[in-house]
Amino acid sequence: MEKYEDKVVWSMVEDTTVVAYVASTTSLVEEARFLHNTSPVATAALGRALTLAGIMGAALKEGQKVTLHIRCLGPLESILAQANSQGEVRGYVSQPSVFVPSREDKKLNVEEAVGKGSQLSVVKDLGLGEPYAGYIKMPRGGIAYDLAYYFALSEQLPSACSAGVYVGEKGEVLSSGGFIIHTPLGTPQHVIQKIEDNISLLPPVSSLILEGKSPEEITRDLLASLSYRVVGEKKLCYHCHCSRERARRTLILLGREELEELLAREGRAEVSCFFCNRVYLFGDKELRELIEKVRK
Ligand code: ZN
Repeated sequence: MEKYEDKVVWSMVEDTTVVAYVASTTSLVEEARFLHNTSPVATAALGRALTLAGIMGAALKEGQKVTLHIRCLGPLESILAQANSQGEVRGYVSQPSVFVPSREDKKLNVEEAVGKGSQLSVVKDLGLGEPYAGYIKMPRGGIAYDLAYYFALSEQLPSACSAGVYVGEKGEVLSSGGFIIHTPLGTPQHVIQKIEDNISLLPPVSSLILEGKSPEEITRDLLASLSYRVVGEKKLCYHCHCSRERARRTLILLGREELEELLAREGRAEVSCFFCNRVYLFGDKELRELIEKVRK
């Protein structure tokens, strides 16, 4: 398989406000799988969420970020995927080793692992103070369809969404990608119809990427017989921006009593990052200093 960098490419259909985002995310989803040691179905669910978050991040301005948070009724418990405007994506699932039987068509049963009726929240931190948040009850649990439902309901923005991960026999990610096409109210019916027809003729995005198709080529298929132009492109990668300083702040939030208890019991504190599993250690001396700081 040809390997290329992960990216998202977006295009506008001429004479409309239709925007089509197409992303390839194979490397970053493989990175997530490696970091969190996820089972195949957990890899697929997390990969879909990371892909869609990565695409949504492309629409943001500098300093902004978007978080998809799913409180699962199914065994995954929760999924979190976050992306910023720099194309940095990170996330985790609460139960990475979940196993559920595959569907009759042999596909991984993400719907079962997430659970129909789960809550999907979309939190957009636009750097303006209070983040904007919208919630829906997921009609299916497969994530992409549910996100389209969110766009229609919460943002009055009719959209087609798709995301898929192709997991190999050893659990490795062979391909991953997705698309989001926004067709705002007022889009001519024949344009919507054309896009729907194109989508229905296409195999899943993960299969197209496995064949070696690029986001540009997939865009050509999705917008076939419409005139459009590519208006943007951004690289995507798995990146966590946790730091020792942030870990220290997390400890301070525990409060004096809990820190004193930690010091007495363990003589040190460990803060591990959910997103990348990095562990920050604070020894006896540092812990005492922190307690002093909280006391003031
Ligand atoms: Zn981290």
